Amino acid sequence: MCGCNNICNKYKAVIDRILMAQGMGAYLQGFKRCRICNIFLTDEGIELNKHGNTLCKCCSNRVSAKPRRKDSKERAEKHKKLEDIKRTEEELLRGIING
Ligand SMILES: [Zn+2]
Ligand SMILES: [Zn+2]
Repeated sequence: MCGCNNICNKYKAVIDRILMAQGMGAYLQGFKRCRICNIFLTDEGIELNKHGNTLCKCCSNRVSAKPRRKDSKERAEKHKKLEDIKRTEEELLRGIING
């Protein structure tokens, strides 16, 4: 683990503020955030190691591709619940149709 070497300045992502305002945050625009460098990086500023982890080219620390794991997990669970409800409704309907 090492700190920022200022290489990341070359790979600084330019976040589209119009997209941002439409709810397309930096992560959705495909940028990765390096917490060590405190910067959003373009694809050129990151590299994949043999384990499939995304690393910052500048400081070699792992970068995050998602805002917060907890948030997306919660959203996925909510989505799953909705799917379950939909499925139950479909089954009920089918039951009614089939008598
Ligand atoms: Zn850096
Ligand atoms: Zn970094």
